Amino acid sequence: MRKLEGRKLVVASHNKGKLVEIAEMIAPYGLEARSAAEYGLPEPDETGTTFEENAYLKAFAAAAATGLPALADDSGLAVDALDGAPGVYTADWATMPDGSRDFGHAMALTEEKLQAVGATDPSQRTGRFVSVLCLAWPDGHAEYFRGEVDGTLVWPPRGEKGFGYDPVFQPDGHERSFGEMEPSEKHGLTKPLSHRARSFALFSDAVLEQA
Ligand code: IMP
Repeated sequence: MRKLEGRKLVVASHNKGKLVEIAEMIAPYGLEARSAAEYGLPEPDETGTTFEENAYLKAFAAAAATGLPALADDSGLAVDALDGAPGVYTADWATMPDGSRDFGHAMALTEEKLQAVGATDPSQRTGRFVSVLCLAWPDGHAEYFRGEVDGTLVWPPRGEKGFGYDPVFQPDGHERSFGEMEPSEKHGLTKPLSHRARSFALFSDAVLEQA
């Protein structure tokens, strides 16, 4: 496992919700983290068919362009009754004809598909959020960290906190959706709860030193 030497890191994401969450998780490590947008980097096309491939595409593009190590998260929601969909296409399900993203639409589409396969009972509505972090260096080397959180798809959406599909995802062992939780609860203060907090815990244990 290659360690992160030096304190400079590019966070290769253009998603505001993710950037905020990653910034919160990086804060204790005293890293100088700047986003891809601050370097004026374009958003690469996510042409991969796995979270790992897409995370690498984003991280390596930013590392090659800046000469610095870069961290990218590729994540999504995998619903069992939909054979793992939307999976790597989670963001695409929110894309509207004019190119904008509407997660109310994406959540309704997911619900429509669950209804179409007759998944009405909570036991038929299981799924998980997945976060794969890729830390890539300009020479092409990469390390991967995968976090998952199991839960149930709820309807109607609940809560205004969080982002993306948070209002329809209730993590196992909890009564409230991610949309109803404060970030500290979603990330898990003592034990990581969200998929991103779990992949981040693996990443920070492996390559970072607490400042
Ligand atoms: P990508 O990783 O940029 O391909 O996008 C993944 C998509 O998954 C995001 O646009 C969100 O809609 C969704 N997603 C990923 N993580 C979360 C989360 O923590 N809460 C809610 N939605 C999420």
